[in-house]
Amino acid sequence: MSLSEKCGVFGAQSESGEVFPILYWGMLAQNHRGHQSHGFATWDGEIELYTQLGLIPPNQGHGFNVKTLKGSVGIANVRYATSGALDLGARQRDAMPIAVKGEKRSVVISFNGNIVNVRELQDRVGVDRSYSDTHALALLLVKKLDETGSIEEAARACMEGIDGSFAVTGLVDDGTLFAFKDPIGVKPLCYGKAEGVHGFSSESVGLDINGLKWDHEFRPGEFMSIEEGEVIKRQLVESSRRAFCAFEFAYFMRPDSRMNGKFVYQARVDFGRALAHVYAEKAKRCDIVVSLPETADDAAYGFHEATDIPWERATRRHRYVTQRAFITDAEDRKSVIYRKVNILESLIKGRSLAVVDDSIVRGDTTKGTVKRFREAGAKEIHLFITYPRIIGPCFYGIDMATYTQLIGARMTPEEIAKEVGANSVNYLDIETYVKCTGLSKEQLCLGCITNGYPTPMADSLAKQMWERVKKGEAETGRIYESTR
Ligand code: SF4
Repeated sequence: MSLSEKCGVFGAQSESGEVFPILYWGMLAQNHRGHQSHGFATWDGEIELYTQLGLIPPNQGHGFNVKTLKGSVGIANVRYATSGALDLGARQRDAMPIAVKGEKRSVVISFNGNIVNVRELQDRVGVDRSYSDTHALALLLVKKLDETGSIEEAARACMEGIDGSFAVTGLVDDGTLFAFKDPIGVKPLCYGKAEGVHGFSSESVGLDINGLKWDHEFRPGEFMSIEEGEVIKRQLVESSRRAFCAFEFAYFMRPDSRMNGKFVYQARVDFGRALAHVYAEKAKRCDIVVSLPETADDAAYGFHEATDIPWERATRRHRYVTQRAFITDAEDRKSVIYRKVNILESLIKGRSLAVVDDSIVRGDTTKGTVKRFREAGAKEIHLFITYPRIIGPCFYGIDMATYTQLIGARMTPEEIAKEVGANSVNYLDIETYVKCTGLSKEQLCLGCITNGYPTPMADSLAKQMWERVKKGEAETGRIYESTR
């Protein structure tokens, strides 16, 4: 559990009044998808924009108001940077939504994803390389809008010219609200409605909180727009395959969000049950089940239910420490791990633990947690990990940039157990994990756990990176930002 999602997006139109409250609640419900900045844009005859660093203030209306924007249509974003420069000035500049002006028209967009051919695109649209990939996509969009006069055609150009992942909500300078998803559908994006209100959201929780009824998950290559209440839905690019991020199920999405007709909660309970069955003999050694709050709680419940081993709530979050350990700067990560979870030592002492967690990425979080269980007097510590062993980087917007930083790319489960100080490390296998999601292998991106990536440039970059690692050459970070 030490990864980061890039962003959450939202967009809405309200026929009967001001849209800002809908944007506020829709985005607040998804603040887990990005903590570095938040922002809103509305249209009230012209585009108005507000961005700010940090979390969305959760107490709107009690003296901590974010700036309220006027208009009946708008978009919103929460962001974690995995592209562009990372200094404070760059984070302020790259906070979304991003507004750009073309020669004739203007657009503002909210983006979740990552552009693999970002260098090529930046050169094509003439934007400095220190800017985030969102600027490049926004500039391509407005350039094509200028040329064709159609936001639909502009979205098509993005789908045809970009290698990577993107879920976008946006506004055109005439008040048209639009949303689209990349041709393989890596990121979540759904549409919902109520009487006189239309909404687009990364996760269905953004619709639920506003009383909007979930209608459908965007198909890969799908485009929708809402103009004065008229809903347009088009399949702009026929996708050769679907590649929804498999990791969303284990970690990123809220358990009460829906994917493929079922709640993510259900998939997580099934992950826990499956771990209990696959590792039945190992489970027998354990006295209690312990989860790492909060993304592993549902899997721990499934593990407990399948084994009858008591589930002790022996780990508790410090409620008002809101940063997820991985959605933070690397230098902050260690201290946040210690600050966010407390351990009830008397429940741990002298017992063998089945510790259920969602993933192991760099290993530093896991190592710190195991150390704390040892200090609390645990007899044995067996780790049961719902997401299969991560062996490769992500090119689609999750903060896993190199092979070297991934403990699973360098070590076997036995070696990892030794490294982190556990008695054993037990991963769910890929086949079982996929089965629990309710999707097929052909419908998922499994790049980071198989080393086979669903877009050509990412697949080729992964091979180049692995060759370098095998030769013992140092990895310098995001290869797609340092390679033409
Ligand atoms: S590589 Fe992994 S984290 Fe990245 S999109 Fe694919 S499944 Fe998700």
